[in-house]
Amino acid sequence: MTTIAVIGLGTMGLGIAQTYAAAGFAVLATDAMSEARATAPGRLRAALTPRVQAGKLTEPEMEAILSRLTIVEGPEAMGTADLAIEAVVERMEVKRTLFAALEAVVAPDAVLATNTSSLSVEAMAEQLARPERLLGLHFFNPAPVMKLVELVAHPGTAPTALARVRDLTEAAGKTVIQCPDRPGFIVNRCARPFYGEALAMLEEGRNPAEIDAAMQAAGYRLGPFGLIDLVGADINLAATESLATAMQGHPRYHVFDALRRQVAEGNLGRKTGRGFIHPG
Ligand code: NAD
Repeated sequence: MTTIAVIGLGTMGLGIAQTYAAAGFAVLATDAMSEARATAPGRLRAALTPRVQAGKLTEPEMEAILSRLTIVEGPEAMGTADLAIEAVVERMEVKRTLFAALEAVVAPDAVLATNTSSLSVEAMAEQLARPERLLGLHFFNPAPVMKLVELVAHPGTAPTALARVRDLTEAAGKTVIQCPDRPGFIVNRCARPFYGEALAMLEEGRNPAEIDAAMQAAGYRLGPFGLIDLVGADINLAATESLATAMQGHPRYHVFDALRRQVAEGNLGRKTGRGFIHPG
């Protein structure tokens, strides 16, 4: 049986774990925070229960999904993984350290994947003994719902690793689109001006709810501020900053003070209960 390991049980990691468990794969998952590990099964149950209530999933199907999730203490307990996906904080050093720990325990042909939104996959692979086994696997939020997964190859990624992960992820019902290892891949790069113009209008004195209402009435499922609240202002800021750096400060990737302030004040959006649209 194929085993998927997920490291980081925050917004994305739990959703990624749900996605593969729902597709019938065994999932091993961990987080550096003991509370995140302890609450993960309950949070997964809470995410699945509305689907049961809506008649989209039966009770036994929900129990089967839950039974496929095993929480472990740390990466050292993930030696049986065929594919290990990290969804920890958006910091290069943290991800590098984690991959070194994973590489020490997984089988030689296991694939390692990063859910990074904006960091260089090639730079993450540099210090690995087998850099050809690392690729980007960028899910969108909420991971169980959003169809798209960007599959990111760095120049040395093995085609066999890409093909294997594409197959596993398509088997989990996703639309997989291969992207080059360029800052922001496809979607986050296109999205930067979307957020940036909205933040510029905010600094000109417009109201976030008014901007979002206009964009939603124009056909967008969420407006830019609702999307920042969903993604997390901290995650959005990290992605904007790493694009600004990678693009050598090009004005298209300007980092607005209004976004920095949200993060400094802890108004991260849905995960803290305070954001642009729901100021608490
Ligand atoms: P989050 O803050 O909700 O969760 C991160 C989790 O990682 C936390 O539970 C934290 O305790 C854990 N963690 C931190 N360091 C760790 C370590 N060394 N080992 C194990 N666990 C560790 O963050 P998130 O929104 O889930 O984002 C995770 C990754 O996914 C980031 O790289 C982010 O850029 C990317 N991403 C986020 C979104 C989004 O919409 N939030 C979308 C796509 C990709």
